[in-house]
Amino acid sequence: MSELANNTHKIAIIGAGNVGTTYAYALLQSGLASEIVLIDANPVKAEGEAMDLNHAMPFVKPTKITAGNYSDTESADIVVVTAGASQKPGETRLDLVTKNYKIFQEIIPQIVENNPNGLLLIATNPVDVLAYAAWKISKLPASRIIGSGTILDTARFRYLLSQHAEVDPRSVHAFIAGEHGDSEVPLWSLANIAGMKLQDYCKQNCLEFEPKVWENIYHQTRDAAYEIIQRKGATFYAVANGLLRITEAILRDQNTVLSISSLIEDFYEINDVYLSLPTVLGRKGVERRLKLQLAEEEIAGIKASAEILKKTISEAGIK
Ligand code: NAD
Repeated sequence: MSELANNTHKIAIIGAGNVGTTYAYALLQSGLASEIVLIDANPVKAEGEAMDLNHAMPFVKPTKITAGNYSDTESADIVVVTAGASQKPGETRLDLVTKNYKIFQEIIPQIVENNPNGLLLIATNPVDVLAYAAWKISKLPASRIIGSGTILDTARFRYLLSQHAEVDPRSVHAFIAGEHGDSEVPLWSLANIAGMKLQDYCKQNCLEFEPKVWENIYHQTRDAAYEIIQRKGATFYAVANGLLRITEAILRDQNTVLSISSLIEDFYEINDVYLSLPTVLGRKGVERRLKLQLAEEEIAGIKASAEILKKTISEAGIK
């Protein structure tokens, strides 16, 4: 693991909406960044958000927070992109592609022009398709373009499993892979608590372990965004913490295994698409992907996700 470069870290956030500002707030609380800049198509909103965040300063670690423009992405360690349309009730993430690809064609070149050496962390949906688009538009090394991918779905999955297992979610080791969306894949073959398969853990602890329990947990994970959007119009707290966890892994060069979206090459014959797999993240971005031994149906599920994403990429004209 390389040494820490320095302890001043600048993060630029594009999109000062629900996700961008909740992430900014979480980042401020964490003390990880010394400087945060907010950039939005609506500069007045970005300015108001920066003012509000600045007034928390007597209670947190000193952090410079400003609203700015693309020239302010210069020297940012990470540019986090949350700009764009979000799902309306009943809309899938893939439905957003045309609107948000247009926005990416406008914003990614401006980021790269001002900050050719930083990392890009994409959260805008459909995140796998847009992380791929950001890689293509930017022409940067793929290791420096990361999509938040299934970090959120994995968190939801671990939370729901922990509720069933009556154990701390941090003690549940399990991943969701593939698309951040309807075709996402639970990696049951790797899921464990203290190294015990979930079924064995449940048997030993007199908990239900019938297939319907697991199916229900998977469905609740996959459909969580629809359920939340129906109730409150948007999701932003958990994803903000997911973005923060990715930020920490990068800035502190932690080599953390997280389910994030990255360029897939030669994984069970899957190539040239962004999707999520457990991936080692450090200061350079994607450090390496793990060669996982997966069950047949898991490989088939990830391949199906890849096909759906490739079709969307091709239909959107992303090259
Ligand atoms: P929001 O509408 O609250 O905020 C979007 C912001 O983007 C707005 O402030 C808007 O002014 C800004 N914007 C629009 N076009 C822009 C442009 N060209 N340049 C700069 N800024 C621009 O939406 P939100 O709830 O914050 O969601 C943002 C995105 O994040 C959506 O695509 C949503 O689907 C996605 N999202 C992703 C995850 C995930 O897990 N990856 C989770 C939740 C939401």
